[in-house]
Amino acid sequence: MEVYLDNGATTKVDLEVLDEMKNLFVENYGNASSLHDAGKNTKKKLDESRKIISDLINCDVNELFFISGGTESDNLAIKGYALANKDKGNHIITSKVEHPAVLAICEELEKNGFRVSYIGVDKDGIIKLDQLKREINDKTILVSIMHANNEIGTIQPIEKIGKICKDKKIAFHTDAVQSFTKVLIDVKKFNVDLLSLSAHKIHGPKGVGALYVKKGIKIKPFFYGGGQEKKLRPGTENIPGIYGFCIAAKNNHLKNIDKIKELRNMLIDGLLTIPKCKINGSLKNRLCNNVNVSFEFVEGESILINLNFNKIFVSTGSACSSKSLKPSHVLLALGITRKNSHGTIRFTLSKYNTKEEIEYTIQKVRETICKLRKMSPLNENTINEYNDLD
Ligand SMILES: *Cc1c(COP(=O)(O)O)cnc(C)c1O
Repeated sequence: MEVYLDNGATTKVDLEVLDEMKNLFVENYGNASSLHDAGKNTKKKLDESRKIISDLINCDVNELFFISGGTESDNLAIKGYALANKDKGNHIITSKVEHPAVLAICEELEKNGFRVSYIGVDKDGIIKLDQLKREINDKTILVSIMHANNEIGTIQPIEKIGKICKDKKIAFHTDAVQSFTKVLIDVKKFNVDLLSLSAHKIHGPKGVGALYVKKGIKIKPFFYGGGQEKKLRPGTENIPGIYGFCIAAKNNHLKNIDKIKELRNMLIDGLLTIPKCKINGSLKNRLCNNVNVSFEFVEGESILINLNFNKIFVSTGSACSSKSLKPSHVLLALGITRKNSHGTIRFTLSKYNTKEEIEYTIQKVRETICKLRKMSPLNENTINEYNDLD
């Protein structure tokens, strides 16, 4: 059995999405800017995609721009807004638990005359709204707080954040890459000005995403060229990718949530029977597919390698930090000690997982933790506590 539990990193492309994309590679492959019928057919697919995704987040088609993915969308939203509005101020507010695509562009802006405040979170991973309010000053031009966290699945109160920003007349960007299709998004109701999406986290293809830019919000583009995407993102449109994104969004929007949640809860219950383990992040305000768990006295990397040997694929934190031994910035922000953050594993489920897979996973995690703790030097004094695991 092969068990893929790393859907926070990327997902399997739905076969229907792939079929539709194939058609646009080999049958209807015209350039959407061409004036002949081959181009017009492609243009129709582009328009249809924009309409479907705009409807899902409740924006106007003129406010949605296709782009190469979540990273570009976050970068363009933040840097593009900062550069186009620097006459109004140089202060940006974000949080300590953002995706690297947000944190890295903020750091880059800090090297170029902008000031960035990083808001903390409570022990459940929820943004401290009081601190956010206190940090706002007359130089603040932008707040960027993610909708749902990629490591611990925590869903932020973005409607409240949107209201705070609206009252203070500050632009609000949210990274909704993880929440899209799993949680309802309504840019009007949430008072969001900029919102980032990515296709490959929702059973669509890699390398495509979108940026919603509210009417009237100014963004300085990164690239210059043709007139595509109203010059915000020139370059021949990736129609197979964009249409694949749209079919994935349409087919998965708010579907299978209960099924995934049931499997997720089954996994949580199973893991919690292992001694000295703790679930990180709010259990209430949490994505249906995320389990983030810390095991004491073991290394996340060792757990990952052992599970990989059993063909169970998980992550030790965010994919971007998993190549280094640095503790996850998200776990540190929760107040978890460096020592404990090392034994952390993220399981992210999808509609493709089954009950049998989850049962198998619980059993293998249990065996792995037991084995590693017996070997672990961290565990010398406490080894007897774990003998009952066999
Ligand atoms: C995956 C992810 C991104 C980056 O998206 P790409 O399409 O891989 O560039 C950004 N933000 C969050 C929260 C993510 O999970």
